[in-house]
Amino acid sequence: MKLNELTVKEANEKLTKREITSLELTKACLARIKEIDNKIKACLTVCEKEALEAAREADRRRAKGEAGELLGIPCLIKDNILTKGIRTTAASKILENYVAPFDATVVKKLKEAGAVILGKTNLDEFAHGASTENSAFGPTHNPWDLNRVPGGSSGGSAAAVAADMCLFALGTDTGGSIRCPASFCGVVGLKPSYGRSSRFGLIAMTSSTDVPGPLAKTVEDAAIVMSVIAGQDKLDSTTAGEKVPGYSQKLDSIKGLKIGVPKEYFIKGMEKQVEEAVKAAIAKMEELGGEIIPVSLPHTKYAVPVYYIITPSEISSNLARFDGIKYGLSEKDAQNLAEIYFKSRGKGFGPEAKRRIMLGTYVLSAGYYDAYYLQAQKVRTRIIQEFDRVLSEVDILATPTSPDTAFKIGEKSNDPMQMYLEDIFVSGASLAGLPAISVPCGFINPIGYKENKMKCGDIEGNKLNEKQKSGAGGLPVGLQIIGRRFDEATIMRAAREFEQATEWHKRKPEL
Ligand code: GLN
Repeated sequence: MKLNELTVKEANEKLTKREITSLELTKACLARIKEIDNKIKACLTVCEKEALEAAREADRRRAKGEAGELLGIPCLIKDNILTKGIRTTAASKILENYVAPFDATVVKKLKEAGAVILGKTNLDEFAHGASTENSAFGPTHNPWDLNRVPGGSSGGSAAAVAADMCLFALGTDTGGSIRCPASFCGVVGLKPSYGRSSRFGLIAMTSSTDVPGPLAKTVEDAAIVMSVIAGQDKLDSTTAGEKVPGYSQKLDSIKGLKIGVPKEYFIKGMEKQVEEAVKAAIAKMEELGGEIIPVSLPHTKYAVPVYYIITPSEISSNLARFDGIKYGLSEKDAQNLAEIYFKSRGKGFGPEAKRRIMLGTYVLSAGYYDAYYLQAQKVRTRIIQEFDRVLSEVDILATPTSPDTAFKIGEKSNDPMQMYLEDIFVSGASLAGLPAISVPCGFINPIGYKENKMKCGDIEGNKLNEKQKSGAGGLPVGLQIIGRRFDEATIMRAAREFEQATEWHKRKPEL
């Protein structure tokens, strides 16, 4: 097995036993990036020199007897998370050459733990999107099928993990941006509760739902990363004082868990095979000792409309700071400031950012505020109350992450409404600030893959033939598990036992 294919847990064991060094591990990841990223385009920046230096430093720390689950582990960071001295673009032309003078809190914590930052990953511009096609630097390609999107907006992070360019990556989730690409790329993606991990140093999108979290190869790896990045931060007053449990130590069984299955998450129009795979996954959780309880969340149908009023409102305010003067202004341009103001915003932002600025400005304007923004906030409160009520009766909710699997590049990019509907099952937990995880739960045969006889919902992974094991010809499906506020531990526990009882996470794309 190649070193870059290791999980965090496995790599830490090998580092601890002195079987490998962080330098070797880091070089293996950098070599993998060089080998395949021209096809996938997951990375916007690779900082080889800094990574090799960090790896040597981690090896020195280990040699002195220091230990730590992330000490010397190579990772990639979504490019809307600030990294001191390494450019952060948010995949926008307006920030093309922006270098932050400080690290985001989550990056600072990773560095203190000794993680090695390999570079920065592609995303939809300012994290607006579900496919990573809105990047000003071109789309990322899905490792399972290079003609398809990796999901978004943390598409670069998810694709990089799936293609073993790093051992884990950080993403941000505002309305599904960790979970959707995790499901499309067949990796684990954890959106923590709002306020569980610090937003300090994230390029703000929707400040009332933004939250950073891990994309990883296994649930246990996600738990390890989460234990490092979680916690109260005096630089983000919305972080909670809630105690951070040692997540990776709490990964016991599903037995006895009450698992709610909301009927509103299985709807007409979703991909049939996705529905089948998720239902098979729920049956598996029952077999593992979970108690399946049908529940109802009738306000689910309002989640997308409410999200697409609140989100553009906050975006129009948050993006106002990019006025073409403080950021992204070249000296040559700086002659006529009035002209520059319009020109820079005009050319600096892509079409989706502009659309959201206009939508947000409209719904916040006098005369429309009450009808749209205020109304949306009231419905949001209903959505929160409904989740809280149902989650007082069950421990977790099990649903599909996305209504479909990775679609073709270009298939939805001209139809914003279709793209927004990708968020149908993920926006609710974001509006309510609840933790949610996406874990691989099957592979389907999309149209054009008929020659492959893969059976969907086949959770007896050990019956797979060689081609199926490699994943060739199939696209991953994600199971979403939503939990109570600040109870990441329980969703990870359920996800982990499901994962270990199945083989989905072991498949690798053929590249
Ligand atoms: N698809 C959502 C959107 O476009 C996801 C955003 C996110 O979570 N960053 O708003």
